[in-house]
Amino acid sequence: MANEDLFKKVISHAKEYGYIFASSEIYDGLSAVYDYAQNGVELKKNIREYWWRSMVFTHQNIVGIDAAILMHPKTWKASGHVDAFNDPLIDNKDSKKRYRADVLIEDYCEKLNIKAKKEITKAKKRFGESFNEEEFVTTNPRVVNYISKQKEILERMARSLEAEDLADVKLLIEELGIADPLTGSKNWTDVKQFNLMFGTKLGASAETAMDLYLRPETAQGIFVNFLNVQKTGRMKIPFGIAQTGKAFRNEIVARQFIFRMREFEQMEMQYFVKPGEEMKWYEYWKETRLKWHMSLGLGAENYRFHDHEKMAHYANAATDIEFNFPFGFKELEGIHSRTDFDLKAHEKHSGKKLQFFDHETNKNYTPYVVETSIGLDRMFLAVFSNSLKTEELEDGSSRVVLKLPSILAPIKAAVFPLVKKDGLQEIAKEIIEDLQWEYNVIYDEKDAVGRRYRRQDAVGTPFCITVDHQTKEDQTVTIRHRDTMQQERIAISEISGKIRSSISYKEWLS
Ligand code: ATP
Repeated sequence: MANEDLFKKVISHAKEYGYIFASSEIYDGLSAVYDYAQNGVELKKNIREYWWRSMVFTHQNIVGIDAAILMHPKTWKASGHVDAFNDPLIDNKDSKKRYRADVLIEDYCEKLNIKAKKEITKAKKRFGESFNEEEFVTTNPRVVNYISKQKEILERMARSLEAEDLADVKLLIEELGIADPLTGSKNWTDVKQFNLMFGTKLGASAETAMDLYLRPETAQGIFVNFLNVQKTGRMKIPFGIAQTGKAFRNEIVARQFIFRMREFEQMEMQYFVKPGEEMKWYEYWKETRLKWHMSLGLGAENYRFHDHEKMAHYANAATDIEFNFPFGFKELEGIHSRTDFDLKAHEKHSGKKLQFFDHETNKNYTPYVVETSIGLDRMFLAVFSNSLKTEELEDGSSRVVLKLPSILAPIKAAVFPLVKKDGLQEIAKEIIEDLQWEYNVIYDEKDAVGRRYRRQDAVGTPFCITVDHQTKEDQTVTIRHRDTMQQERIAISEISGKIRSSISYKEWLS
């Protein structure tokens, strides 16, 4: 299936099977704002839990907090968001569409990347066994040209953005002949900076109201609480503080479903380390986070690191874990070495000391910070789009199946009576009443069993349990596995254990 078709299918499937709805849909929706529906809320909760356990439960030196969305406005001055949380935007004069100038340039570079990859694939086919990829990439003139051109462009963009030379960013777009992706027009305005924070007011009267911002990232709630947590939790360096919660950004271009939203959720962890040890921990967290992703089995080939050329104002090293979304490889998670920028800045703006006292040396110091920051909604999209499959079956028919990792599936099992009589419904309901304390399970008696299976396949339920006449005689049921469609007969008393063994955090996470 073409990528564009797959993406459309993902969006319509998410709606049809109760995962995601447009926000305030009866009023035609609100751009780049979405609601999670009955199954979506469960999947989202399960992803959050999977992350939380891997951070907080399995690291004795990481604790969680839940800071408020509204923070003192000085927070955002200190963090640099008031002055520097900008995206360079550019408008097309003909189509009146607005774009991020850096994204237009990055997309152009990605096309060069794809061209290079095509040459490599072609050569691989031609030379077969004897193909030496490393040699080919460094010697084939076409590939060398694509790669060096891409590097040159990204470096120039990084330099211009750093120096706030927006005229050069526009010049670059013109020199590369980048056109409006929707209309092909090259009639561009100048590039301007646009601050992404949403403003709001605190207080009743217009004169005394205080200007606030909705937080654009959760990280600052952690920095301002650094000393509170360190002291009350008697934490020793290195230690981490984890948090999940809403963040808000007035994104310029928000056209990719839940990939780029104006209200979204982040899962962040700030790891406080000794100055000088940050690169060791940066490497540790790169590896640890990639392992977490791999544990879900979405395919190693769907991830890659992208090290930053252009660093945010606070970072001395930064990489993205990119995922192969239906629209190509894009950032899923960021890992940043943030130095002591944030703690020092808050110290300066608040006048309060934010340092760690090292009992071994009897000295205070400002810790360095390595952070891991992942968008929960982006993770949702990665899992959901990767799991959606259309399969051809042996009998010539096809089925749509959402092969979610069972640990994340919203509903763990559906229980069916084969027919709506002979006391089978009652037995099925008793099974539900027993399982419901441990798992999210549902009862379904509508339509033929085959159709009920298909419905659960599309929702992503790993197990279907059918109660039939034999159940009355020997207390056994059939259990059908979503991925293999294999059925087996087991005792009612074995159902719970069967589900439990497929969703053990210990097995999935380790
Ligand atoms: P991008 O370059 O895509 O705008 P970013 O580099 O600004 O992202 P960060 O500030 O590093 O993103 O935020 C950390 C994570 O939060 C991202 O990796 C992403 O998963 C998520 N995220 C950021 N912005 C959004 C958004 N508008 N909608 C959904 N998730 C987001």
